[in-house]
Amino acid sequence: MSSPYGGRVGNVFGDGDLYMSNGGTKVFVEVLMLAVSASASREWEFRFAALIAAQDQAVFGRGAVGFDLEDLDRGDTSAEHARNKDFVLDTVDLALGRRRWDELGYDPPFARDYLRRFRRLVEGFDPSTAVPRSRGFPATEDVVAVSCARHRVLSPLSYYKACVFCGRDQE
Ligand SMILES: [Zn+2]
Repeated sequence: MSSPYGGRVGNVFGDGDLYMSNGGTKVFVEVLMLAVSASASREWEFRFAALIAAQDQAVFGRGAVGFDLEDLDRGDTSAEHARNKDFVLDTVDLALGRRRWDELGYDPPFARDYLRRFRRLVEGFDPSTAVPRSRGFPATEDVVAVSCARHRVLSPLSYYKACVFCGRDQE
């Protein structure tokens, strides 16, 4: 399958260094949404939560999601870069600590491996050498700081009024 973004095929996260199957992507998105629902409090953090929510294949198509680390608008200053990077790493660590995994209803066998690999990508990513694109990173006006009342998970995309667990219930 080719994509308009050149090298991106399937569900690829972070410059093609982390490829996940459709099932793996679903797990990755679910454990990150459970974590980020607890960690997000600033505007940029809700935008990151919205980026993760936008990886919901039930809504946006199986095999059609993914993002590159260059897509993240990291902020204008190196202090903001550092703060936002720390936030992403802290959120991944929360997920690695099995935040609310008891609510998944299944045992996610590959989640820790995906999370560790994603963490390494984020940790090693150097924004000073990356070409900033911010393509696909949700804009402030497209993001709302609300949660799904039923699942207590952020539903941060203003144009999509459900969380990633709402769609799952209909499968
Ligand atoms: Zn929900």
